[in-house]
Amino acid sequence: MMQLIAKAAAVAVGSALVSLMLVLAVVPAIGGVVEGNAIVMSIACPLAIAFPASLHAFWQKKRLADALAKLTAAHDELADAHMQLAEAHARLSEKARHDDMTGLLNREAFFSALKSTRRRTDAGALLIIDADNFKYINDTHGHAQGDAALLLIAEAIRVGVRDNDLVGRIGGEEFAAFLGGVDVEEATLVAERIRLGVEAIRFSPGDGKYLPLSVSIGAARLRPHVSWSEMMREADRRLYEAKRRGRNRVVFELGAQAAA
Ligand code: GH3
Ligand code: MG
Ligand code: MG
Repeated sequence: MMQLIAKAAAVAVGSALVSLMLVLAVVPAIGGVVEGNAIVMSIACPLAIAFPASLHAFWQKKRLADALAKLTAAHDELADAHMQLAEAHARLSEKARHDDMTGLLNREAFFSALKSTRRRTDAGALLIIDADNFKYINDTHGHAQGDAALLLIAEAIRVGVRDNDLVGRIGGEEFAAFLGGVDVEEATLVAERIRLGVEAIRFSPGDGKYLPLSVSIGAARLRPHVSWSEMMREADRRLYEAKRRGRNRVVFELGAQAAA
């Protein structure tokens, strides 16, 4: 406040000086005489008007500047909060797309990613990968050991596919992978790599012994005008066929004997 009063006083004194100079210059020029009362009035009037007027103007200016500073701070806070919200939203939606246990895409996210993949490629293969005799692991060693085995299988699948392939957990002990751009030969190689990777897992359910793990894989090739649900059905039939033929194998074409 003191600063405002000082500024207003400076303006008032300046105005009084200008007024006095004008009176001293103009009044004699038009034939008048500058004397006592005129001098007092030429100083007092500007002081009486300029001081309150400029004090008011400076005070309003300060209030506006304070309000602007508060508004800027509130705007910055809002921008910060907005950014944090956007980050939390992104983290949450990323989390919502993944299976809590394995970290792979969940069923919904996998199928929605498949749909957008279709716009980018017309070639590729869909694999459905199902853990073999998993109920047995749960029944004999408990659900927690089953979970541990499932994590190892998920990891072997992740390692078996290529970097840009889609991998999801589409059911309890059932996974799916989409291998973009591959032909049957390449897809078979990847599927076999997954199968062998799972077979190579040294899983011990805590009794000092190793329990073999394996998966069966049914595969379908992406073709133009074939829907995802048709491909899923096709891969599912082949998975069933792989189970029927004794498990731990890949079936790409029905009727053809795949490696085991
Ligand atoms: P198959 O070779 O024919 O696939 O036999 P399977 O025993 O794997 O198949 P089935 O469908 O009979 O049983 C699946 C089992 O997988 C039963 C279920 O309790 C178990 N399972 C599914 N999800 C989980 C899970 O998240 N954790 C554990 N520990 N077990 C699971
Ligand atoms: Mg199974
Ligand atoms: Mg199953």
